[in-house]
Amino acid sequence: MLITFMNARRRGEVIHKKVGLMRGALQVHSEKMKIYEVAFYILKTYKKKIPFYVNETTCLAIRSLEVIQTCYSRIDTALGHSDALTSLEDIPLFSYRRFSVAECVGATLKFFGFSDYARDQDNPTNIIIEAGGDRGLMFTDTHVFRRMYCLVAFYRYENRDIMAISWQICHMDLKSVRTYLTDPMSRKDVETIYAKMPTEAEDRRRAFIAEDADLEREMTRVGNLKMAEEIDEIISGEKYTGGFAKYIRKIHARFSKVVSFETDNLVESVYHAIKRRGHFPRPYSHGECMLGSVGNRKAARCYSMADDRHHFEDASPSKCGGCRFHLTKVAYVENLRLEASALRREIEEGGLDGFALARKKRDLKALETSIASLCERLEIENEG
Ligand code: SF4
Repeated sequence: MLITFMNARRRGEVIHKKVGLMRGALQVHSEKMKIYEVAFYILKTYKKKIPFYVNETTCLAIRSLEVIQTCYSRIDTALGHSDALTSLEDIPLFSYRRFSVAECVGATLKFFGFSDYARDQDNPTNIIIEAGGDRGLMFTDTHVFRRMYCLVAFYRYENRDIMAISWQICHMDLKSVRTYLTDPMSRKDVETIYAKMPTEAEDRRRAFIAEDADLEREMTRVGNLKMAEEIDEIISGEKYTGGFAKYIRKIHARFSKVVSFETDNLVESVYHAIKRRGHFPRPYSHGECMLGSVGNRKAARCYSMADDRHHFEDASPSKCGGCRFHLTKVAYVENLRLEASALRREIEEGGLDGFALARKKRDLKALETSIASLCERLEIENEG
């Protein structure tokens, strides 16, 4: 599941016995910088293996499966099973053996299928149920993992369960090449890069673009869902702050004056008005950027007249704090606190030279100021 949803893959692309992941699928470019690559077979669109950068969680999951396969191979060798002669690279990672009283571990390969676990549907902690929210979306739905990827991408900074996983496995960043490619605002840049590459890159370009059009549909669905949820919460009086929350309240107040609106329709009308204007969420650890594709983009605080573009790379609590497209709530304060404690740890551990240390200290100070100001705006206690 981790490999499938963290890479927005279809289940067959991961577990299929012929085209799914085999032992040796993981390529390590740099262990130190945690740069890993896996070639996934792309069903439907390209029908061949295309390399993707993967995160550390995917790497750990693949390595764990490889350890299991190595154990099977050692047992095979010890028992003299003919499968022991098979090249390790030819062994599907999602194959397993049955335990047997007579043979200890059976020699025949069995294959894992997600539907084998469908009986766990009633378990309320089942992560698929949480992500899908609908039994109709269980393992048999081909898009369930892509949808889960989109849900994690949008909710990762405000969902305590996801944050808990993040602490446990240390790293679950989704900032892979895929996130970049699926960002409609970055797509033009990506296409320019590919256009300058030799023909050999053309295959990959076509595969990525076809793939991402598919994934983007799912991203749009989840993003709109999230936006609708937030508009509803803002209107119901939940604690939100940022220029965009004010803007929603203003539109709501204006619409409220039209007496023909029923309460539910009113929320829906606000949502449609916001959507029509092109707003769409872009998640950051300090909140969301709701700029989307709105007309008045120059009003954004990260917009630069010098090059007529937005510098999303500069997004930070202080930069976005005064921006009319910024939206944040209490859940994001926890993220900032985590970032601050990670920085504090780094400073205390030593090992940084003068320049890096000064920069980290400056970042920490800015973060602490942002946390204090955010707590004040949200009217919550600053525990830091
Ligand atoms: S300043 Fe922040 S909130 Fe405003 S447009 Fe830029 S990234 Fe979005």
